[in-house]
Amino acid sequence: RFDVSVIGGGLAGSEAAFRLARMGFNVALYEMRPVKQGPAHKTGLLGELVCSNSLGADQPSAPAGILKAEMRRLGSVMMGCADRNRVPAGRALAVDREGFARDVTEVLSSLPNLRVIREEVSEIPDGPCIIATGPLTSSEMAGSLKELVGEEFLYFYDAASPIVTIESVDMSRCYLGSRYGEGEDYINCPLTEEEYLAFWEALVSAEQVKRHEFEDSRFFEGCLPVEEIARRGRDTLRFGPMRPVGLPGPDGREPYAVVQLRQDNREGTLYNLVGFQTNLLWGEQDRVFRMIPALRDAEFVRKGVMHRNLYVCAPRVLDGYLRPRGAGREDVFLAGQITGVEGYVESAAMGVCAAIFMGRVLRGGSLPEFPEETAVGSLLKYLREARPEGFQPMNVNLGIFPPLRERIRDRRERCYRYFDRAAAALERFLEDNPDLLPRWA
Ligand code: FAD
Repeated sequence: RFDVSVIGGGLAGSEAAFRLARMGFNVALYEMRPVKQGPAHKTGLLGELVCSNSLGADQPSAPAGILKAEMRRLGSVMMGCADRNRVPAGRALAVDREGFARDVTEVLSSLPNLRVIREEVSEIPDGPCIIATGPLTSSEMAGSLKELVGEEFLYFYDAASPIVTIESVDMSRCYLGSRYGEGEDYINCPLTEEEYLAFWEALVSAEQVKRHEFEDSRFFEGCLPVEEIARRGRDTLRFGPMRPVGLPGPDGREPYAVVQLRQDNREGTLYNLVGFQTNLLWGEQDRVFRMIPALRDAEFVRKGVMHRNLYVCAPRVLDGYLRPRGAGREDVFLAGQITGVEGYVESAAMGVCAAIFMGRVLRGGSLPEFPEETAVGSLLKYLREARPEGFQPMNVNLGIFPPLRERIRDRRERCYRYFDRAAAALERFLEDNPDLLPRWA
């Protein structure tokens, strides 16, 4: 008899199952592979990395480094396996892909109170459970999730524009204003004819991500990548996302072309490039989008993407503790990418959180509040408080943390300050919640 079921043995599910087992619960971890193989996974190993073997930056001067430090402190199995299977990759933490997943599988299989059951689960089970079936959740389970959260709040594809931090935008090269003078909600980044043509040429010749076979282009027809719009003609962007009509500059004249930035979070620290969903490689996005004069030094905290990705509209359907409100039960949690985060470590972090919350529910305690100053707390806050309209999955970045009191221009220095503040907040949190200390680490 199991105390709790975890569905999905990817990054979040493995993390959650590991933690709950180390807390002493009897855990059933359901993984459909290799009995049923997903479209991107290739093995039957737990914690398989579906694409890159890099888990991103791993130093205190990068937001991803803050999250990794917290995960280590919280006793993450994924970080332990990643550290043991590290391969040289500069400042990033990259791993031997197979060695990493094999390690995760072995660690979990060695726990006497954790059973790995190779089975596809199609419905939300009756008892306590964590659903961590990932961005490529099997279709039957996707159907059950649709029922749980409501069709309009479950998304199957992610077509997101890049996001920049407001402090990295050169405000001397833009102006505020909504189209036809209806308010001042947008930041407008104008381009002259010469700048536009150079931008257009760079955009149409930039390198794109190769789409996977399972990512049928039909699904993206209603939402074309900006480079595809550009390829249809030299002026198509000027009649589409870069339309200057109704957006006169401070001199009263409409610019040749304009890129609009729209506020992306409540705090107003993040802005997205309106209509700039893209398939360009990440490096190419930096190069090409920085040709927009106001974005010359922009810090892109999230790159544009267009890919298959199942996730819920977290601020609408989750209760702030990763629990779908529609379940009407306190013992059902979501974890991983489906909660509305993006990235390997972010997904695993939501596995840790789901396990912590579930542990408290099973033991009858109140659910802990992660401090917002921590990376984990910031991600949870994003899921709780992001704008529900056009909600997009988020990776860890400085824009989701509460801003520092003082303004520090140097990016690395600023990040060190966030790092120290997060570390101190996490220690205070663990002092207040000693049951969450990972005694196995
Ligand atoms: P997963 O790791 O996908 O785990 C979900 C598990 O659930 C899988 O093992 C699956 O087999 C299982 N499962 C699904 N349905 C069922 C069911 N009904 N019953 C039982 N088991 C089930 N992030 C990065 O940081 N870097 C990248 O390079 C990167 N590349 C990506 C490439 C692709 C194609 C995709 C789709 C995503 C990528 N991501 C990447 C985003 C994300 O970080 C990963 O998808 C990450 O693996 C998500 O972790 P997860 O635990 O939520 O889901």
